[in-house]
Amino acid sequence: MKKFYKWLLNTLPRPILIRLSYVFRLFAPLLYKGNKVECPVCEKSFSKFLSYGSDIAHRENVLCPYDLTLERHRAMWLYLKNKSNFFTKDDLTVMHIAPEQCFHKKFKNQKNLKYTTGDLLSPIADLHFDLHEIPLEDNQYEVIFCNHVMEHVKDDLQCMKELYRIMKPGGWGIMQVPIDASRNETYEDWSITTPEEREKHFWQYDHVRLYGLNYPKRLEEAGFKVDVVDLSEEMPAEQFERYRIPKSELLYVVRK
Ligand SMILES: [Zn+2]
Repeated sequence: MKKFYKWLLNTLPRPILIRLSYVFRLFAPLLYKGNKVECPVCEKSFSKFLSYGSDIAHRENVLCPYDLTLERHRAMWLYLKNKSNFFTKDDLTVMHIAPEQCFHKKFKNQKNLKYTTGDLLSPIADLHFDLHEIPLEDNQYEVIFCNHVMEHVKDDLQCMKELYRIMKPGGWGIMQVPIDASRNETYEDWSITTPEEREKHFWQYDHVRLYGLNYPKRLEEAGFKVDVVDLSEEMPAEQFERYRIPKSELLYVVRK
């Protein structure tokens, strides 16, 4: 049973997994009963998390068996809980681009938010638009989330500028991307077009670039002020390890 469960989690595409997560919620607490790791999002403990990722980016012990959060989701959640007004400020206007399904319902039900989601295609999004040309007025949102999107778009600087434009002055946001910490410069090569080649060069079949350590500079070019937040600096190491968030999981917090 445990093997079958693990096989399912590693075989099914993530959006389908999340739709089936009610099934996992029944089994996970039994199969992964224990107290070695903890997910701050669902506030449950387990003997371990599941492995996740394609061959090139495979990680052990990272996928919460209950609500399917990964390292980056848990890090973002801790930031929102401990270092932001996201859960406390009334009438907070939020635009969530390509909403992560593990957060979508939670944020939607959050009484203090005026929460809108946007995506090119996703059926769960409220608005559908192209990030290169957002059909919304300037200065609309106090908070913008746009995670793991910029590595997919044709002109990332243009998309970042558009997000900056719709953010209210004084607003903030989180914009995570995969980063290859061994590179200083972002790697782009538009002659690489096949899914196989893109996976090899950019880590996933539908990525069009691989960011390097200059990612914050690119955000600044679009107009944002950028804080690179390392949560591990302010949390006991054991706690961080228990949440299974690697030290390399930095948060890119943007401000206008
Ligand atoms: Zn969880």
